Amino acid sequence: MSTSPSPQHRATVLVVNSGSSSIKYQLVDPDSGDAVASGLVERIGEDTGAVKHVAHGVTTRREVPVPDHAEGLRIVLGLFDEIGPDLATSNVVAVGHRVVQGGALFDGPALVDAEVERKIEQLAPLAPLHNPANLTGIRVAQALLPDVPHVVVFDTAFFRTLPDAAATYAIDAQVAADHQVRRYGAHGTSHQYVSQQVAQLLGRPVSELNQIVLHLGNGASASAVRGGVAVETSMGLTPLEGLVMGTRSGDIDPAVVFHLYRNAGMSIDEIDDLLNRRSGIKGLSGENDFRQLHDMVAAGDTAARLALDVYLHRLRKYIGAYHAVLGRLDVIAFTAGVGENDDIVRAGVLSGLEALGIELDLERNAGRKSEPTVISPDGAKVTVLVLPTNEELAIARQAIEVVGA
Ligand code: ADP
Repeated sequence: MSTSPSPQHRATVLVVNSGSSSIKYQLVDPDSGDAVASGLVERIGEDTGAVKHVAHGVTTRREVPVPDHAEGLRIVLGLFDEIGPDLATSNVVAVGHRVVQGGALFDGPALVDAEVERKIEQLAPLAPLHNPANLTGIRVAQALLPDVPHVVVFDTAFFRTLPDAAATYAIDAQVAADHQVRRYGAHGTSHQYVSQQVAQLLGRPVSELNQIVLHLGNGASASAVRGGVAVETSMGLTPLEGLVMGTRSGDIDPAVVFHLYRNAGMSIDEIDDLLNRRSGIKGLSGENDFRQLHDMVAAGDTAARLALDVYLHRLRKYIGAYHAVLGRLDVIAFTAGVGENDDIVRAGVLSGLEALGIELDLERNAGRKSEPTVISPDGAKVTVLVLPTNEELAIARQAIEVVGA
């Protein structure tokens, strides 16, 4: 252990996001919101893994074999020992784990015990790539940090309030019930965090605000939040439904799948790969990063132009639909990589919506926003803002609430 005393003794939470071949982590001070340290282990199970640890403003990188998650987390704890901050003196009161799919079983965070682990395992068919990896991370972390309570925070939990009318697919009811086919949503931690922060920023109770939250990252989702309660969201059984994304198609006629299977000789796995990884703006333009996409559009690339138009058109349809669902709209909040940084997308999607009370101040909108920023004109009927998301902080705060620290 490092001998230097920790500079602060306030409670911290270690937030862990364990994916199929990676572990992201952040040591968070839930009061200030500061990331005391953060890092990433990538390429777990490959010949050489990559490890990055950021602490005290210094980034440390290592290329070492990381055969499995247990070794990955051991390396992370070793880096905390070697470089700091020293976890033993950081007053770590909880480990908060991100879990993708909570299905119908979880409507909020939960303290990990055998029953909770069993339920996460039971939900694996709904998130075959994610839940098993999340569970591995939980088990490994528990073994290495046995004296700290572990809490799970679900990506789906915020959307357990969706009314049945919004959560139900119109298919044979028995088939749906037998196979847990319904709309669960995703990115819920971010939608919840952003909608609450918006209320705080505006100095209004969240219960008084009707909001549309647009989480536009590589994955993208929209939600309608009435008085702090989610009533609609664009992702469904899986994160494939809804908006056009970096590499995912979003909404599509399900018959496209039958067509490709029957007539293009594609297997179900190939179609799965097509719709999740080779579609969206990448499928249309060859590029999934909006910075490059805009350069291509500026250079006259017609495929890139079409990709951007399709993306904006879909997003605009959702804004209109959610406006109708909410009846009255007070706030539109943009967040995540594209939402926070891309003024072209923000202006592009909201132009021409003045009749709905939606206006943008182009000067306020200009540029990237790392701080909460109102981008509508003063006195506009709908307040449009950019609100940077912070899923790690949201997970840390929920974990603190569960353990009562
Ligand atoms: P995820 O968490 O889903 O991987 P992020 O929320 O980090 O994604 O968003 C990543 C995306 O944000 C990138 O693929 C890129 O398209 C977009 N992005 C990041 N920075 C900028 C920028 N300065 N301008 C426009 N788009 C940006």
